[in-house]
Amino acid sequence: MRLAKLTEAEIKRRCDEQVWQRGEDYYRSGRVRRCLKSARGLQAQVHGTTVYDVRITERRGKLIAICTCPFAQSWEGYCKHIVATLLAWLEEPERFVSTEGFQGTLKKKTKGELVEILSRICEAYPRIAQDFLGVGEREFNPRAAVEEVLEASLDECTPPELMRRLEPIASRAEAALARGDAELARRVYYELILGCLAVDEEYGSTEIFPANLVYTYAQGYQEAVEADPARAEKAAVILEEIARMEKSELVELEGVYFDELRRLLGRAEKKRAS
Ligand SMILES: [Zn+2]
Repeated sequence: MRLAKLTEAEIKRRCDEQVWQRGEDYYRSGRVRRCLKSARGLQAQVHGTTVYDVRITERRGKLIAICTCPFAQSWEGYCKHIVATLLAWLEEPERFVSTEGFQGTLKKKTKGELVEILSRICEAYPRIAQDFLGVGEREFNPRAAVEEVLEASLDECTPPELMRRLEPIASRAEAALARGDAELARRVYYELILGCLAVDEEYGSTEIFPANLVYTYAQGYQEAVEADPARAEKAAVILEEIARMEKSELVELEGVYFDELRRLLGRAEKKRAS
């Protein structure tokens, strides 16, 4: 199922009647706002008891939905915020502002205007600015970046906030994958998965992060391995990473399976040996 082919029936299959009704109410009463569309999928904010972040990602031909509400954290199917967002996409796709459009807008600005815009972004989102400006791509250390977020935030942060702080790191993996740096993408996803699983273990629960978040990272990891032309030579390293991730007792509860990847690497190794 993909976003372009999404139907009402597909949405209904992932939620019960009551959630569908409430999601539709939410959509009709204008609670879905700040809609964005990127190469990877959709984002929106849905105004309920508080503001929830919804993220729909297309991965390997499948739609993965994440919402920061408590309901979505404890249940695999769609919550009303996800339903409302998908309905907005079905009925008013033009409301989703394309992030590709941002690039077009930026290209038309003068240097002075760009500095002004970036300065305002730095003021509003100092952590993200620090992450992008303070450390160059070459010195970027995925492990240190993930550890910094998870260590600094656990006591002071709600789960949605934690997800928001991991986002700039995940977006680096996305960007790396998009420009063909599969190695960096894989390492970033690996650290994100390992870091989240460590937090799960510490708290003895998979409900620290929104449902499907770790799963999305695992899909990204798999995609990065598949995209790596040198994966056969790296098979031993990758299998070791998989073994480390699978050490966590909670890995299956997060919906993370690497069987397919292990088969792929086994085939690659065999081919190399023959
Ligand atoms: Zn929700």
